[in-house]
Amino acid sequence: MSEQWTFYFEPDKCIGCHACSVACDVQNDRVDDDNWRNLRHEPTGSFPDYEETAVSSACFHCGDAPCEKVCPTGAITKRESDGIVTVDQDKCIGCHYCGWACPYGAPTYNPDNDGKMSKCHLCLGEGEGDGHGKPPREEQDGDNTPNCVDNCVTDALHAGPVSEMMELASEAAVERFVNGNRRALIEPVEPDSGGD
Ligand code: SF4
Ligand code: SF4
Ligand code: SF4
Repeated sequence: MSEQWTFYFEPDKCIGCHACSVACDVQNDRVDDDNWRNLRHEPTGSFPDYEETAVSSACFHCGDAPCEKVCPTGAITKRESDGIVTVDQDKCIGCHYCGWACPYGAPTYNPDNDGKMSKCHLCLGEGEGDGHGKPPREEQDGDNTPNCVDNCVTDALHAGPVSEMMELASEAAVERFVNGNRRALIEPVEPDSGGD
């Protein structure tokens, strides 16, 4: 495999503005309740030092891709060229196994799409991947930065080859990423001490 691509996210820089998730919806024709990129508000700390931290997440294109392992039809592929995990819509039977296997709830099932699975493909193409009359993904290879990253207003969200992302990240984030089967490269969140 040439080098695996991944996302890198810095919660401390994120202001929860949703520009990334809206940019994803626009680029990939997503509709309500079928979003590929979501913004969650995670609780950190405890009362009285309780806070909420915005976390922007989509499919992380995991190093070990648990979704691929459980797919009974071979619809999910982790690409040799760049590690991007894609779904062949023609092979998917909508069994939901991948959704149960994914630790991040990344796969979505759109009733308007026969309940088939779709998810972030790092902006390889438009729409939901193969089988939708769009250009084959093989014709769309390239180093293009995904739309969510391009539209992040605070530089909290990055994407690129793993080695470049690991250079940007802190030691703690890299250690967690490597020990976690190279899934999510996210800076740990430290609750505010409440001091000055
Ligand atoms: S984040 Fe979920 S859908 Fe994406 S590669 Fe990992 S297990 Fe699969
Ligand atoms: S829902 Fe589709 S992509 Fe997911 S495991 Fe089942 S057949 Fe594979
Ligand atoms: S665009 Fe950037 S700052 Fe805004 S919610 Fe997304 S990751 Fe956070």
